[in-house]
Amino acid sequence: MSAIEKILLETPGLEDEPWDVERIREDFPVLKQTVNGKPLVYLDNAASSQVPQVVIDRGSKYLREEHSNIHRGVHYLSQRATTAYEGAREKVRRFINARDVRECIFVRGATEGINLVMHGYGRKFIKEGDEIIISAMEHHANIVPWQMLCEEKGARLRVIPMNEAGELLLDEYDALLNERTKLVAVNHVSNALGTINPVKEIIARAHKMGVPVLIDGAQSAPHLTVDVQDLDCDFYTLSGHKMFAPTGSGVIYGKTELLEKMNPFQGGGDMIRTVTFEKTTYAGLPNKFEAGTPAIASQIGLGAAIDYLNSIGRERAVRYEQELLRYATERISAIEGVTLIGTAREKASVLSFIIENVHPHDVGTILDQEGIAVRAGHHCAQPVMQFFKVPATARASFAFYNTKEEVDALAHAIEKVIEVFS
Ligand code: PMP
Repeated sequence: MSAIEKILLETPGLEDEPWDVERIREDFPVLKQTVNGKPLVYLDNAASSQVPQVVIDRGSKYLREEHSNIHRGVHYLSQRATTAYEGAREKVRRFINARDVRECIFVRGATEGINLVMHGYGRKFIKEGDEIIISAMEHHANIVPWQMLCEEKGARLRVIPMNEAGELLLDEYDALLNERTKLVAVNHVSNALGTINPVKEIIARAHKMGVPVLIDGAQSAPHLTVDVQDLDCDFYTLSGHKMFAPTGSGVIYGKTELLEKMNPFQGGGDMIRTVTFEKTTYAGLPNKFEAGTPAIASQIGLGAAIDYLNSIGRERAVRYEQELLRYATERISAIEGVTLIGTAREKASVLSFIIENVHPHDVGTILDQEGIAVRAGHHCAQPVMQFFKVPATARASFAFYNTKEEVDALAHAIEKVIEVFS
């Protein structure tokens, strides 16, 4: 069963209550503004999503009433801040269904999460001649750290290829897995193509060879439901700013037995048990990986964003987003001169496209004049652009607060672009 089918079929009563998108939009103050005299149409959610009022309120409550450093203080404010921060960690645990709250390490985002594993696990356990498998559709955040590691260690990076629809070729993956493979690191959902990868299957095949798997969940956490125990992934990372929380928040999940045998990431305060000039011993999980003062307000905000997602019904949000994506795919692909990049059977949120004879940057600029925010560029996935032989794409990416009317506005604006350049 596919990831989407699983969510839609296994949640009873999803169809009973229609999605009241106008009600939901009320929760997001940023959406109420006009840009260039037009109502803002925000379709850049894969880069950063918007923040609901309840999350803003929770962050400002910390700044107004609780602002102080965590863990080290015995005073009232520090204890309140610590309770809020650690409370957010428990919310994360439940959100991804980790077994133990100590398996949820707070980081600045997916990039830092992947780098933590590269330094803590990779530099300790990956040796000359070993191999790391990634996929052809990775974000640079899940390519460059592994390349750096391979260079340092004399290890080899192997890449699971994809087809023209932007789907991974699992037979080729099987052929890459061998006794030299020491880690597999793939994204759950591609930010450039929208493909939902069959990560459960990818993980199961790696585990048959005894190989741990890191899932880059930057684009899946906001658009799917995630259960790290069901996936059985060894590491899973997410970025708060893509899931309705402030920038600077994020998580790397790791199985206890792996995190415990890893080296720390950064050294400093809060990650130690004892320090002498001769030797330092490290704190237990999760503190071992959280050196220095973290982004306290942002991580508390991530906890509030999770509360918000639970309150609106994550499965219902997934269902609505799938409907919207289907509508947008039909509407935009019907425009003559437009080619979609990324047509996998299972997709989430993302519609990447090019327009014949128009550079994507010009598309982005003209759409901005219409108040429509899309991203134009390589989306930090240059190998994907090279595969499709395009310099860049324009990318509309949706959230559960977007509407069919906004898709129509996008379609009209694209038609305008084509007119300008014809
Ligand atoms: N992986 C994927 C799939 C992403 O889309 C992104 C952000 N575009 C990242 C990793 C990096 O996330 P961040 O910049 O929040 O660290």
